[in-house]
Amino acid sequence: MAKIAVIGFGQGGAVAAIKLSQQGHAVSLFERAAREGFGHPWYDDIRFDIFEFCALPLPPRECYTNKGKRLFISPDCKNSLRVPSAKPMEEISISRPALNAHLAALCEAAGVQLHFETQVEHLLVENERVTGVVIGETALRFDLVIDASGLFSPFRAELPGRFGVRAEPGETDVMTAWRGFFKWEPGTAAPDPDRNIYIKHQGSVGLSWCNLNDRGEVDVFVGRIGTMSEDERKSAVAQLQAANAFCSREVLREGVTAKISLRAANPGLVADGCVLLGESAFMTMPMMGSGIEASMKAAIWLTELISRTGMTDFSAANLWPYQVKYYTELGAKYAFVDVVKRWVLGIDTELLNWLFGCGAVTNEDMGLVSTDPNNPNKLTAGKILKKAAIVLQKPKLIAQTALWMRRALHVRRVASALPTVYDPAKVQAWQEKYHAALGKAV
Ligand SMILES: Cc1cc2nc3c(=O)[nH]c(=O)nc-3n(C[C@H](O)[C@H](O)[C@H](O)COP(=O)(O)OP(=O)(O)OC[C@H]3O[C@@H](n4cnc5c(N)ncnc54)[C@H](O)[C@@H]3O)c2cc1C
Repeated sequence: MAKIAVIGFGQGGAVAAIKLSQQGHAVSLFERAAREGFGHPWYDDIRFDIFEFCALPLPPRECYTNKGKRLFISPDCKNSLRVPSAKPMEEISISRPALNAHLAALCEAAGVQLHFETQVEHLLVENERVTGVVIGETALRFDLVIDASGLFSPFRAELPGRFGVRAEPGETDVMTAWRGFFKWEPGTAAPDPDRNIYIKHQGSVGLSWCNLNDRGEVDVFVGRIGTMSEDERKSAVAQLQAANAFCSREVLREGVTAKISLRAANPGLVADGCVLLGESAFMTMPMMGSGIEASMKAAIWLTELISRTGMTDFSAANLWPYQVKYYTELGAKYAFVDVVKRWVLGIDTELLNWLFGCGAVTNEDMGLVSTDPNNPNKLTAGKILKKAAIVLQKPKLIAQTALWMRRALHVRRVASALPTVYDPAKVQAWQEKYHAALGKAV
């Protein structure tokens, strides 16, 4: 039985704690927030089958609803593309505080020692190995520390450099997001579909939405890559209110500003005595930022490895298959998406407006951005030729697309070619190559 510390009660940290405790390990989870009502006060989108994947009981039925239909709107607001709907309840919107409360109850039932209002100050690092955590003045020893403390983890920088963990996200790797809720304007009709996502809203490098959720609240989101000034945020909200009659000016819940990771996974996920999980490892889908599923899945892959191998020495070498699994299942795909995201957000706004309206991209194609792994809308050779014929009208677009596709495929190839067995020299060489491939894509 090992002594394991989890820093941070995100969904990935909680799932890891539950599973490891069920395996018989002594698990302590440290969360700096207070237990009551922690977690952003909104609903998040996830796939319903994530609970089955994690073999966890379902949360109470009243805390989730079916995810609405989505429409992507061009920067000039003149054209739109509709995402084909998933089957009912395949994708859900779930209350984050309720999901966290559900996971906290499961932690307790599994025997996890939950410590709320407890901030971890530092990692304890001895002879280049993580051997515990420091809370206040007290050093506590653990066999394994799981850093699930989110995007701005201070602990990455404390890990010995030889593990290749990137300490900070770059400025363009982060989306500054504002989300607030307004009252439904009396007498106005509900929009169809209920979710409007504005790409490069007002010519910005980012996106916005203005949705009516099925609790009758108008959910307004303004997200910009890098930073966002207060004037920019106010102007975007005012434009969304003007364009969507159902959105009143009356505030239901004050807006909250938060940061979301929008980059490919960290080149280093493991060190001697420590692993990274969730946004501290940059485990999100770089286009939309949805990281709940990725972090819950990663928790399962990590804890299955520990159980399968009966691991007692939590060295980087023994933990390495966790990184291989993450990159094989999600990391390489998301590295590809990271490059595509940079292309879409960097593309000339006029060209993007044209692309929305020219017919090269259809509603059916938008199935490719759905989360359905069995999405039937495949890009066949015939479809590609038809699209190419349309896009030929814009040679600049073809050149740009070809260049970015080549970069994206290169990054995916490099990301999926990580060494399968831990050899420090080979791992370091791969990390440098992966980092350079991503860097070249910027
Ligand atoms: C506006 C917005 C909308 C989003 N929408 C979605 C969505 O619809 N679907 C989706 O899948 N994802 C969504 N996400 C992303 C999602 O929130 C995260 O990817 C997911 O929660 C995983 O994050 P995490 O657990 O790694 O980190 P976090 O959620 O940031 O959790 C880290 C925890 O660690 C704690 N902590 C930090 N430092 C310390 C310390 N030193 N000591 C102790 N505790 C510490 C923090 O208090 C926090 O509770 C959204 C994010 C935002 C901001």
